[in-house]
Amino acid sequence: MQFYLDKFRPGDPEVLEPNPNPAALADTDALPTEVDVLIVGCGPAGLTLAAQLSRFPDIKTRIVEQKAGPLQIGQADGIACRSMEMFQAFAMRERVEREAYWVNETAFWKPSAERPGEIVRSGVIQDVEDGIAPYPHVIINQARVHEFFLDIMARSPNRLVPNYNRRFVGLDVGAEAVTARIERIDEAHKGQIETVRARYVVGADGARSSVREALGFKLVGDYANQAWGVMDVLAVTDFPDIRKKCLIQSEREGNVLVIPREGGYMLRIYVEMDKLAENERVTSRAITLDDIVRAAQRIFKPYAFEAKSVSWWSVYEVGQRITDHFDDASPTRERDPRVFIMGDACHTHSAKAGQGLNVSVQDAFNLGWKLAAVLEQRAPSSLLSTYSSERRAIAQNLIDFDREWSGMMAAPLKSPETPHGVDPADLQAYFVQQGRYTAGVVTRYARSALTGGVEHQELARGFEVGTRFHSAPVVRLADAKAIELIETMEADGRFRLIAFADRGDPTAAGSKIRALCDFVSRTLAPRFTPRGADIDAVFDLRAVFQQGHRALALEAMPPLLRPAKGPLGLIDYEKLFCPHLKSGVDIFDLRGVDRDRGALVVVRPDQYVAHVLPLDGHAELAAYFAGFLTAAL
Ligand SMILES: Cc1cc2nc3c(=O)[nH]c(=O)nc-3n(C[C@H](O)[C@H](O)[C@H](O)COP(=O)(O)OP(=O)(O)OC[C@H]3O[C@@H](n4cnc5c(N)ncnc54)[C@H](O)[C@@H]3O)c2cc1C
Repeated sequence: MQFYLDKFRPGDPEVLEPNPNPAALADTDALPTEVDVLIVGCGPAGLTLAAQLSRFPDIKTRIVEQKAGPLQIGQADGIACRSMEMFQAFAMRERVEREAYWVNETAFWKPSAERPGEIVRSGVIQDVEDGIAPYPHVIINQARVHEFFLDIMARSPNRLVPNYNRRFVGLDVGAEAVTARIERIDEAHKGQIETVRARYVVGADGARSSVREALGFKLVGDYANQAWGVMDVLAVTDFPDIRKKCLIQSEREGNVLVIPREGGYMLRIYVEMDKLAENERVTSRAITLDDIVRAAQRIFKPYAFEAKSVSWWSVYEVGQRITDHFDDASPTRERDPRVFIMGDACHTHSAKAGQGLNVSVQDAFNLGWKLAAVLEQRAPSSLLSTYSSERRAIAQNLIDFDREWSGMMAAPLKSPETPHGVDPADLQAYFVQQGRYTAGVVTRYARSALTGGVEHQELARGFEVGTRFHSAPVVRLADAKAIELIETMEADGRFRLIAFADRGDPTAAGSKIRALCDFVSRTLAPRFTPRGADIDAVFDLRAVFQQGHRALALEAMPPLLRPAKGPLGLIDYEKLFCPHLKSGVDIFDLRGVDRDRGALVVVRPDQYVAHVLPLDGHAELAAYFAGFLTAAL
């Protein structure tokens, strides 16, 4: 994190200078009549988008929520490795990591062959495969994640805060803007309707989305006719794996998923309840907390399980549903979109694979930088239709995966009477096989204007085009600090151009790195960077060299790699990196970068690899950006 570019300020450097224009500052009471982006719903999707847009002081964003205040307890709690990378971009990863439970191992339990009605451990595995991500898979209360996003918003230049007690009730899409109707639902203002004209409206309003309904879209799919109970509980038990994630299959009493929670004592327990009849909804069963606790006790046998305090519980049906369209223009594509839906508003599925929050925040991270680029006139509004095309495909994969996984979790044990049941060994094998998927690291965007081809993939085999940037450790040349390269990729809407140097001397007059710097500073950046902005405002070029950090002369590096920035012309020293040789982990070997030719890895603002090019592929680089960016005025 870099700060004090314009002057020193005492106090917390993460609290940014307030916008000098008072009209830009958010107000908890009054909702403005005109905004750039109106977000509906303070779930993880809405808050991710709000936090992302709050980085842009010239974009007027507001977020409304029907509840009276922030979420306090319950709902999703699993944070996949990929979401931790995104949290790093928002500088909240360390807070989550410090507070969360780390899922290191998963244990599998099955019915005992010797003692009917009892369970025995059938296996223990490492939860996340080594090396697939720099950060762990963790568990934390969704409400805490919300708080961290709310903090980021509150510290942003426009001091963005949600407007609570507001219910979205309808919208009209016009040629230039969308008019949204918001009903106030607090006692003092009950029934009052506020009208907000927004350039874009984003429905992040959950599975029962009113924004989706206003667009006439439906969630289509099926319920699995299976009720599950969930509780956050402080319990006393002699079950030995209680501080590990566990999948327990009992002989006749159904299955349990144990998720240890942050703090060392609390547990999240999912318990399989009754099979529902065809077309029966779970509400008709009137399942109580006592029912859930008793079912858990039966499954845990021979171990005792005494629930001492339950802070949250719920009963829900497993179902996989998805909507065909994620934006208002998608049915015809005759114009560019103005209204979007994200998260549970677009796709709902079981909680068993812990994907609910994770896929929703990734939806928002995909849309956020695109909205910012369009609103700041760095890209045409056609860029916005890529949100739907990219994320709809990802959601469909999730639905397909979840149908298979939750079907296995709910299936009876394989036996002569139930030959179509699931064997515990198969359940464990499937869990391991899908580990990368549930970690969130296999998302791959198809080739498009935003995702280049794979013609030069062999130059950097470990940075696969279309997938998220797979970080590795490096050492910063200027101060010898060891960091993960992904730490340079903040949620600031900029493209990263990561130049992996060839073997030669990068400071030599004819080096490819120098030629690339000349091209970016003389041709590419001037074409797309707003006048008066820093040279790296749109393209953040960083270089990784093959030499150790003491073998290179910083002062001889091309000027673009130590650019003068801000009103004082201060030098940015954080663009130059070397392999972390001391640890024996060389990023060139780890990610298969061609040492003779080097490589240029283009990374999108949402940390996905957009292109891999030769260092001297200047024309291809320019053509790639000309495909979706607007030339600066
Ligand atoms: C009761 C419940 C239990 C869950 N349990 C689990 C679980 O155990 N594990 C798991 O992984 N996932 C669980 N989930 C799912 C998980 O919470 C979601 O996948 C995730 O929160 C999706 O995020 P989102 O931002 O898309 O939607 P949500 O988190 O649903 O947020 C939507 C927000 O929009 C607000 N809103 C809705 N309509 C309007 C309106 N008209 N006007 C203004 N605001 C509105 C809502 O109040 C809510 O705050 C649960 C969800 C619910 C609702």
